[in-house]
Amino acid sequence: MTEKEIVDSDERRQALLTEIEKAATSPVHLMAVCSGFKVTLQKYHLIQRLPEKVHIHYGPGCPACLASPSFIDKLLAYSKRGNVILAVYADLLGIPGSVSTLEEARTAGADIRVITSIWDVLLLAKKNRRKRIVFPALGFESAASSTAAAILQAKVAGIFNFQVLCNHKRMVSGMEAVLQQNEVPVDGFISSGRVAASMGANYFLPLSDDYHKPQAISGYEPEDVLEAILHLVTQINNHTATAENLFTTVASAEGNSKSYDLLEEVYGLGNTEWTGFGIIENSGFKIKETYRMFDAEKVFFDMEIPEPVSPDGCLCGAIMRGVKSSKDCPHFAKECTPISAKGACMYSEEGPCRVDFLFGR
Ligand code: SF4
Repeated sequence: MTEKEIVDSDERRQALLTEIEKAATSPVHLMAVCSGFKVTLQKYHLIQRLPEKVHIHYGPGCPACLASPSFIDKLLAYSKRGNVILAVYADLLGIPGSVSTLEEARTAGADIRVITSIWDVLLLAKKNRRKRIVFPALGFESAASSTAAAILQAKVAGIFNFQVLCNHKRMVSGMEAVLQQNEVPVDGFISSGRVAASMGANYFLPLSDDYHKPQAISGYEPEDVLEAILHLVTQINNHTATAENLFTTVASAEGNSKSYDLLEEVYGLGNTEWTGFGIIENSGFKIKETYRMFDAEKVFFDMEIPEPVSPDGCLCGAIMRGVKSSKDCPHFAKECTPISAKGACMYSEEGPCRVDFLFGR
């Protein structure tokens, strides 16, 4: 960025902040669901510059933070089988399971490889036909469609030693759970541009219609998020409630039909556990019976997984529900830091505790 561009964007931010200040005549409570929004708001110090009347809460938008210790425990159990290679993103290595992390298991000899894309997993499976390659699949709608594409590709290529431990979730189900639990005031949502990129802006409409909640579908630049806040305050003032698409360069109204086809072909919907919420009905993408040979839980159906134990005193669950923040946790920045994370919220790249540790202290 040139010096002029920096000055221009700061002027634009200040102009948006001034407009927000003028528009926010009474207190408003907005929830930023996607973890990327928290990074933007903290990293660019926008949170401190917002008017006092605008309250931002953070919701269940960090995929790794929403995977309970039982997810890591299953991976640890699979890794003990001699014929298993775990292929994982680095973001998962240090997340605590009930007794250890994948990193610790790797140091102790488990075959755990770090990948940078799901296509690396298929390559690994092709090269290691005598092994089972297990891929822990986390994330929301967009990530679920990438995993579905990989499963279909594996089927076509006859790569049947590729197994997915599937924990993909529907972001809109998490948003709905926040409203139903009603623990935190939410007048409107800054909704995920990432999800809208594949599913389209209209995907969010039913939530606005059913709960009369405004949404602004936003990109992740500081000006994008401020504009989303301004639009939400305006909708609230006007008593309107729709899902406004402000991320039109990337997200269309209808979304990507290929993503819908992939999701429909490979998954059905099922009940899934969300850290802090418990089981949310029909909130998860479940691999269909037709593709059961790629479903790690079906392939390793005989594994005994001990009851999961959550990290002692970790408030990650309450943080995911938006009712606590990292500052409420007595471990924050003391015994819990990015290099000694007690919970996923501190280890994960976009985990709320990590973001607060890096940008919010
Ligand atoms: S600071 Fe650590 S222990 Fe506390 S809630 Fe965050 S991840 Fe959990």
